[in-house]
Amino acid sequence: MNIKLARPFIGEEEERAVLSALRNTEISGLFGSCISEFEQGFAKYCECEHGIAVANGTVALHLALATLGIGPGDEVLVSTFTNMATFFAVLYTGATPIPIDIEPDTWNMNPDLLEAKITSKTKAILAVHIYGHPVDMDRVSAIAKKHNLFVIEDAAEAHGALYKGRKAGSLSDIACFSFFANKILTTGEGGMVTTNNAAFAAKARSLKSLAYGTANKFMHDDIGFNYRMSNIHAAIGCAQLPKVEDVIRLKRNTASLYWDWLSSIAELQLPVEKSYARNVYWMYHVVLRGRAAGTRDFVTDFLTTHGIETRPAFVPANMQKVFIERGFTRPDDCPNANYVGENGFYIPCSPDITLEECRLVASCLRAAISRAV
Ligand SMILES: *Cc1c(COP(=O)(O)O)cnc(C)c1O
Repeated sequence: MNIKLARPFIGEEEERAVLSALRNTEISGLFGSCISEFEQGFAKYCECEHGIAVANGTVALHLALATLGIGPGDEVLVSTFTNMATFFAVLYTGATPIPIDIEPDTWNMNPDLLEAKITSKTKAILAVHIYGHPVDMDRVSAIAKKHNLFVIEDAAEAHGALYKGRKAGSLSDIACFSFFANKILTTGEGGMVTTNNAAFAAKARSLKSLAYGTANKFMHDDIGFNYRMSNIHAAIGCAQLPKVEDVIRLKRNTASLYWDWLSSIAELQLPVEKSYARNVYWMYHVVLRGRAAGTRDFVTDFLTTHGIETRPAFVPANMQKVFIERGFTRPDDCPNANYVGENGFYIPCSPDITLEECRLVASCLRAAISRAV
């Protein structure tokens, strides 16, 4: 038996969509009906006016930052506990990412820590909805407003997550999604920028496609990028869109089973769902605590032996040697994130995981912890 962390949810609809794009020879990112259909469909799903499809989530982040004009000399406040793509994207612009420690329960950026890090160079707050639980955006937005900063969402893990009933991706100046193979909605590789600001949308659309000129295509309007999503990938996205709510329902169902079976274990912290949130549980991330602190290798080895795939939590930005060497951060900058980074890991939460598989994961995890302590 082998229980995978996250199997993509791909079927005949995706096959048909790709085949049809190929047969129409709509294969590039410049032409093809699926691109605009996917952009409009996904933006509508996110309750946003505009969607700009791109090649992946990392370039979605770079494009959003470039659209806001963020560059050398600027500072961007970023949750330290994230996929490092979030930090790399800030660095691509020439700006400096400043790591912010996390809340111990949601593992999201702690808004209380933002003001102490704001300087005359700060231009934006980049909030990551980690593992599909939305950031407390009202608190972030209030601080941004007071200090005249942009807010950007990294919603790469949070398709369909709700904050006070509103969709992730619609809660800031500009937001970014990833459609990598293991994300809630996938195109294999892919990404999207969403915004309600028409000027930002136009700028992002131009920059993503080499900023080709309008009167003379080859007299460029700006220094652009080729960040286009191909129509073949967009075809997969169109086929995926009607399934997103099913995927979320299945993941939330798994989370509720795990809650029933695991929440009585004192040494295990489970994901929360704040009263303001709908968590979409992109990954089901748990943290060992109390007597089980420091036993992650033992626990995950035990699960591996029983055919259950796990993966350690993100290593926070403040622990990354490439950032420490360059003087962007120090290892002890974000103690909450360090604890979670060392004691957290994912257990399987594929949309199609069965009840029996969930039961096996839960009972193995319980056994592993009782042996570890
Ligand atoms: C997946 C992910 C990204 C990067 O997306 P890619 O499509 O892999 O480039 C960025 N930020 C977060 C939080 C992610 O989970």
